[in-house]
Amino acid sequence: MIKLNHQNYYRLPWNLTDNSITWLEPTSKCNLACLGCYRKNEMDGHKPLEEIKEEIRLLNQYRRTDGISIAGGEPLLHPNIIDIVKEIKNYGLKPIINTNGHILTKDFLKELKKAGVFGFTFHIDSKQGRPGWKDANELQLNELRYHFAKMLSEVGDISCSFNSTVYRDTMQYIPGMVKWAEQNIDIVQVMVFILYRMANNNLFDFYIGPVEINSNELVYNIQPENVVDIKAEEIYELIKKEDPEFDSCAYLNGTSDPESFKWLLSVKLANKKRRYGYLGCKGIEIIQTFHHLFTGRYLAYARPKTQAKGRSLLLLGAFDKRLRKIFFKYYRNPLNLFRKLYSQSIMIIQPIDILEDGRQNMCDGCPDITIWNGKLVWSCRMEEQLNYGFNVQAYPKNLREIIEKQRNKYQKN
Ligand code: SF4
Repeated sequence: MIKLNHQNYYRLPWNLTDNSITWLEPTSKCNLACLGCYRKNEMDGHKPLEEIKEEIRLLNQYRRTDGISIAGGEPLLHPNIIDIVKEIKNYGLKPIINTNGHILTKDFLKELKKAGVFGFTFHIDSKQGRPGWKDANELQLNELRYHFAKMLSEVGDISCSFNSTVYRDTMQYIPGMVKWAEQNIDIVQVMVFILYRMANNNLFDFYIGPVEINSNELVYNIQPENVVDIKAEEIYELIKKEDPEFDSCAYLNGTSDPESFKWLLSVKLANKKRRYGYLGCKGIEIIQTFHHLFTGRYLAYARPKTQAKGRSLLLLGAFDKRLRKIFFKYYRNPLNLFRKLYSQSIMIIQPIDILEDGRQNMCDGCPDITIWNGKLVWSCRMEEQLNYGFNVQAYPKNLREIIEKQRNKYQKN
């Protein structure tokens, strides 16, 4: 596996109190049953509107943020989704809906747009048991992705992203999905690949303080067969094999393993005729820094019309080597003066890893933090809060053996 060097990339400046996005869960009810979901599907899972408003108020108090991901559960099922979008918009934040899209119609979309929705992240992959698409693979699902991207572009000026959970047997389709996104770069702004992970009950025991927990009670500890965790670098390598110029520009590292890449961002510059290259680390640093300087917030999502102004990004070529190269490549053809150049983000997310010694390696500067019981908590570990009120700690089953080995080694020296 390729080994990436952090020194070559920009560390996104996101942190606990000042971040690009923040997570809101108005419901835990869902109309699909995705294999990789880390929330229990509860039929009576809708929170009352007043409670959601209070959560938005608290999120806004605890955290400077550009956008709020309205997630769940399936947020479009919430009877007050329009009011939730309006409430977020009233705080001057970008409401982004994280949905499987199953009940989204054009009329519903128009209503959401009127309420102020800024963007959508559609979660679509082949392990959702989606009616009508049960045997479809990731590439066949591009037809469904296109349906939503087209709908958004027809209603106009709404950011369009796609999320997919990636499993060892579906990662082969990633280059094809990236290619599809590039072919539709005028209507698709972001592709996100979330690497499926599980806490392995065979290797670890779980405790809160001295109390052992039955981890089988947690939805993300159910072990499907043959699950082997995937690393962000593996996906990077897979995309690079198809497109040797592919490279990332920014990252978030892990809290316990600084060498790990938890969020790995690449930004492509292309139009429907040709791919020109990728944004470099200086370019993304300037974008994040200036956005914060002028708006007080780190940039989360951008409007489609902003992402269609890739040519203005080329001006940053004065500071960014990769953009400089693109500038000369692009303007070699003078007709390009009249053509659009789009930017499109590809984000690889490697959620929580449990390290050999049991430490849980989280995303440092977690953008998906949410609120529970008046405090900020990781949304990927909400089930622990709900079940026990605390996060659990993993300990390797062979911990004694590991300690013994280390002691012997030390005493020999
Ligand atoms: S720490 Fe968990 S909630 Fe935060 S970004 Fe990573 S996977 Fe998401």
